[in-house]
Amino acid sequence: SGPLLDVRDLHVEFRTREGVAKAVNGVNYSVNAGETLAVLGESGSGKSVTAQAVMGILDTPPGYVTGGQVLFQGQDLLRMSGEERRKVRGARMAMVFQDALSSLNPVLSVGEQLGEMFRVHRGMSRKDSRAKAVELMDRVRIPAAAERVRQYPHQFSGGMRQRVMIAMAMALEPDLIIADEPTTALDVTVQAQVMDLLAELQREYNMGLILITHDLGVVADVADKIAVMYAGRIIETSPVHDIYRAPAHPYTRGLLDSIPRLDQKGRELYAIKGLPPNLLHIPPGCAFHPRCPRAQQVCRTDVPPLYQVSTVRASACHFWKETLDDAGTDQN
Ligand code: SF4
Ligand code: MG
Repeated sequence: SGPLLDVRDLHVEFRTREGVAKAVNGVNYSVNAGETLAVLGESGSGKSVTAQAVMGILDTPPGYVTGGQVLFQGQDLLRMSGEERRKVRGARMAMVFQDALSSLNPVLSVGEQLGEMFRVHRGMSRKDSRAKAVELMDRVRIPAAAERVRQYPHQFSGGMRQRVMIAMAMALEPDLIIADEPTTALDVTVQAQVMDLLAELQREYNMGLILITHDLGVVADVADKIAVMYAGRIIETSPVHDIYRAPAHPYTRGLLDSIPRLDQKGRELYAIKGLPPNLLHIPPGCAFHPRCPRAQQVCRTDVPPLYQVSTVRASACHFWKETLDDAGTDQN
């Protein structure tokens, strides 16, 4: 059987008064059951917009899917009716967002919100759904679940609130979870705990998991493979370990060099110069060329295709070989 989720040549644009912003320009990625894909990129790279198009929660207008397929268990979600789509979204795929506080209802107890999932989707009684809510809170390791089930979102810490969001996403045991910056608002220790919890649940239920993040540091231990996005395109894909050892794209190299490392304490942290492009005016050629330390004339005119680096890796850089060769040396 094919992949759980197969995104093919996806295009999304935003029609604004200033013009058409090409937010997603031909993205391909797939994730299998039991596999974790990290989608990495700066804000504005198209990683969240791609996820919103996959989930069917894109803001339309101004956002429009203008091409491609989103095959989920072999069915193209983009060709389903709104009703069919809602059913898939409720039970078979779920999303975890960065900001739990604004995703939860402040005037309903956490138990009521969790229980609602079972009342609405499974037709359970109030009493049974309450019991299920406690069980779920327990499963995401919220201490004293039987008491805390009566509390309101503001009574939970950021990390505990994010566990509640994960419990909501897990409630109907979906086949796929998409987590968009699930730990960005949390402090570093709590980040690691929440990431570990997600990874553990993913294994236990053999789910597909897509982790969207701007932070290459948080996904190293949990992801199987990585897709790096820049200006609406995937510019590198790789199994996770290969990319840390030897990135095949200068942008990925820059992201790696900007992760703080314990063994380089006291050293000035590298930062990629410049800003991501305005999507209304994506630079010609390689969109990364104005910021790239390796840019040549060809980079300003020719869009690099996604070159096959190995059977499991690809890079959209004209100079991927040179970039790989440099991986052993220190550019800072
Ligand atoms: Fe840099 Fe050129 Fe490669 Fe783009 S194609 S990443 S500008 S070297
Ligand atoms: Mg985002």
